[in-house]
Amino acid sequence: MQHLVAAAFCVSALLNALTATIAWRHRRSTPAATALAGVCAGLAVWSAGNAPVHLVQSLAVARTATYLTFVGVLGCVVGMHLLARTIVDPHHRPGRRQVAGLVVPPVLVLAAVASDPWHHLFFTSTGHAGDPQHFSVVYGPLFWVHTAWCYALLATAGGHLARAWWRASAVVRDQITSVLVAAAVPVVGNLVNISNPRLAEGQDTTPLCFTVTALVAAHAVLRRGLLRVVPVAREAVLDTVTDAVVVVDDGGTVVDLNPAGVRMLRAARPDVPQPIGLPGSAFLSPRALGDLPGQHTRYTLEYVPGLHLDVTVTAIADGRGRCLGRVVVARDITEVVETRRRLEDQLTLVERLRAQLQEQSVRDPLTGLHNRRLLDEALPAALGQARATGQPLGVLVLDVDRFKAVNDTHGHAAGDEVLVAVARALAAGARPGDVVARTGGEEFVVLLPGADAAATGERAEQLRAACARLHVEVAPGAVVRPTVSVGTAVHPGSGTDAAGLLAAADAAGLLAAADAALYAAKAAGRDRVVAAG
Ligand code: GH3
Ligand code: MG
Ligand code: MG
Repeated sequence: MQHLVAAAFCVSALLNALTATIAWRHRRSTPAATALAGVCAGLAVWSAGNAPVHLVQSLAVARTATYLTFVGVLGCVVGMHLLARTIVDPHHRPGRRQVAGLVVPPVLVLAAVASDPWHHLFFTSTGHAGDPQHFSVVYGPLFWVHTAWCYALLATAGGHLARAWWRASAVVRDQITSVLVAAAVPVVGNLVNISNPRLAEGQDTTPLCFTVTALVAAHAVLRRGLLRVVPVAREAVLDTVTDAVVVVDDGGTVVDLNPAGVRMLRAARPDVPQPIGLPGSAFLSPRALGDLPGQHTRYTLEYVPGLHLDVTVTAIADGRGRCLGRVVVARDITEVVETRRRLEDQLTLVERLRAQLQEQSVRDPLTGLHNRRLLDEALPAALGQARATGQPLGVLVLDVDRFKAVNDTHGHAAGDEVLVAVARALAAGARPGDVVARTGGEEFVVLLPGADAAATGERAEQLRAACARLHVEVAPGAVVRPTVSVGTAVHPGSGTDAAGLLAAADAAGLLAAADAALYAAKAAGRDRVVAAG
């Protein structure tokens, strides 16, 4: 039986030594590996120290081995504490006070153990007893002080792990659960051990129980990638980038928020409490939590009035493709949006001014009618349209009769008033699609798209009559009654060349034909309409 127990301790020692070596080799890629190596090395020493107690009959060897196990016990307990701290925070580096707290008590314990043969305060007695004979000890007061310190350290480690479990995503939670359950095994084993006098007599199986913990932890850390969900280098990047980064787990709970995210949230939504652990919907837009076609989406939004964000949402999965949640990265683009808005405003203003200028350039300032510049473009365009649609086009050229006399009699300003009155009469008689332009001093042109010879003649007569009805009071008691002469031309028909070969005139020909008709109207006595040809 003794040999069997000794063999179990030897296997445990070897297993732990091996795990310690593997863990130590992984210390660069996995933050928790160093602490894990410490735990396993401690267990190896603890187990190794227990083996000779059951094998060798020499009291001196049994005592020395028992004393040596405390190097392992302390290494294991301190290692467990550091392992838990590293799982909670991969950047955890013990400060000076913590190092002192973890080094001084073990040194004191080891000193008490080493000097025990003189004071017997650690073990009241040590020796062979029972039948069959085996090495046994009776615990002294310092042993219980040491045990209390160890349990206090393990309890804080458990507390840290429980907190990490609460904050972790689903996958990390699984891993921490297995470590916590495994850690409970040696605690129960040790409590049974130290509270049972029969077992306490040299039958300490705690390191065997602890070996279970170490193997489970090794599996979690080395095989399942505990702490590697967010590698350390990337965490450092997250801490320094100016974009807000929010990590939401599969259940929609916020599991991480970088410092930039905390700052942004505090400024924009002071109503939101400590965000980690909250449902994402507490401060993320429904779009950030909605479907992710192609595992990725990007959009911009005005998060709160005056804060514009460019948001990228990406699904995250572990090595086996299990969905872990999503990462929401938000960049403040308020400045860009506002600059763009200002530029757009300026562009609109420039466009309005340009349109105004363009409009003014084709308007006659005195009458508000279009000018010759516009007519020079409108007439060929109307003609082109007429040709394309096969519709006729009527052209009127109007000239105020004996206008010079108005100027001479009543002055230039009175002449202007008469021109404005005539222009108004022509504009009032225009229909949608017509173009009315003042092309010279007292000369006007009207384009009548769709009007054939008959309609053109009729419209010309209407406009002439409208002008003839005008009474313009240019001064108190002084009334001018202007008349106009009108020459008309029509496409197709008017403006053919001398041989009459062209079926359709060009713009200049059409105008010239109307002009010639106007000349004829003047010659015929004015205040009348004459058609070209
Ligand atoms: P007709 O019946 O043959 O057309 O005789 P008319 O006197 O109207 O023709 P004429 O070409 O001899 O005179 C046109 C006058 O129109 C000459 C010019 O001083 C005047 N005029 C040209 N532009 C303006 C203007 O903008 N305002 C005023 N008040 N007069 C103008
Ligand atoms: Mg005239
Ligand atoms: Mg004239």
